[in-house]
Amino acid sequence: MTIVRAGILYDGTLEPPKQNVDIVIENGRVAELKAATGPRDFEARCVTPGLVNAHAHLEASGEPDTMGAFQTTPPNERLLNAAANAAKSLKAGVTTIRDVGCSNGFAQSVRDAIEAGKIPGPRMRCAGSVLCMTGGHGWPIGRMVDSPLEARKAVREQLWAGADCIKLIATGGVLTKGAVPGNAQLTLDELAGAVEEAHRHGLKVAAHAIGTLGIKNALRAGVDSVEHGTLLDDEAIALFKEHGTYLVPTLSAPTCILAHLEDGQQPQYVVDKARGLEDVMLKNLRRAYDGGVRFAGGSDAGTPYNYHENYPLEVELMWSLLGMTPQQALHAATAVAAELIGLHSGTLSVGEPADLLLLDRDAGEDIRALQDVKTVIKAGGVV
Ligand SMILES: [Zn+2]
Repeated sequence: MTIVRAGILYDGTLEPPKQNVDIVIENGRVAELKAATGPRDFEARCVTPGLVNAHAHLEASGEPDTMGAFQTTPPNERLLNAAANAAKSLKAGVTTIRDVGCSNGFAQSVRDAIEAGKIPGPRMRCAGSVLCMTGGHGWPIGRMVDSPLEARKAVREQLWAGADCIKLIATGGVLTKGAVPGNAQLTLDELAGAVEEAHRHGLKVAAHAIGTLGIKNALRAGVDSVEHGTLLDDEAIALFKEHGTYLVPTLSAPTCILAHLEDGQQPQYVVDKARGLEDVMLKNLRRAYDGGVRFAGGSDAGTPYNYHENYPLEVELMWSLLGMTPQQALHAATAVAAELIGLHSGTLSVGEPADLLLLDRDAGEDIRALQDVKTVIKAGGVV
């Protein structure tokens, strides 16, 4: 048994925080929450659930030229990088992560090694290869499909290769040369075929979508989450709400690209595409959040300058750029992201995994307190 004493406890919900609570941990799970009294093993000013990152690419490490680095780094080195990035993520407070696109099933290997206790890392779910059109966004880590039937077959292949969820590419993107972010890529038919197949096997579906038509195609096809969502419109907002689809805003991705334009290290096509989306992005995402769309935390870690240990930055950006309160941002980066991934509730409540962060400062007063985690506990064990 382990007892963690919290001066203030945010349990991941939007309920008012509790003061002076003991979290009793048994067999890796929360056994009891009670008024603080008697001896304890740990004590912290503030305790939150472990963070949940619903959008990461462990195989990429934040290199300025993502695709160039992918092509010049040998596969065996990329696998080792993925393992190292899992450890960095966990150390920074991410206790659950969803990898939404890798090559060679590397994320599945990392997940299995973590589960077997061979290497440190968060609880993991992974999509395996992304499903994209021929030459479409993400093709270097993709399985290219060009019909509803091929999309179904590719879902079965990912399932066979140990994927826990499916990632579809509904539009172009910033990091693939020649892929126009605003253009739809996989068609509604192809998306719908993949979604039907994935759901039949109990796999959730995430869709990369930046352009307006592609976002709506993905929503109409019944995906569980839209990633990025940059060029959404009012009709898309209505579709999000009608279908109960989550939006994973990945604010860190464009923020980190735009913050490093002066370095001259990023390919010109990346810089140009990111600049083209800069003005509309925040306006649209704020409109969606204010309009009642469910936001789940996810950072696109691995993209340029967007390091795996920087997930607390994404939580900060949901507060500073989207206008969430600190507690709402924490909720999006714990309970809501966990609900989307489907492994556990992401809250600190009885019966849930004992994944928690010990902080010196009150995260409800300043969400940036997450950037300085004192102790990370996963499944009751100190990391
Ligand atoms: Zn991504």
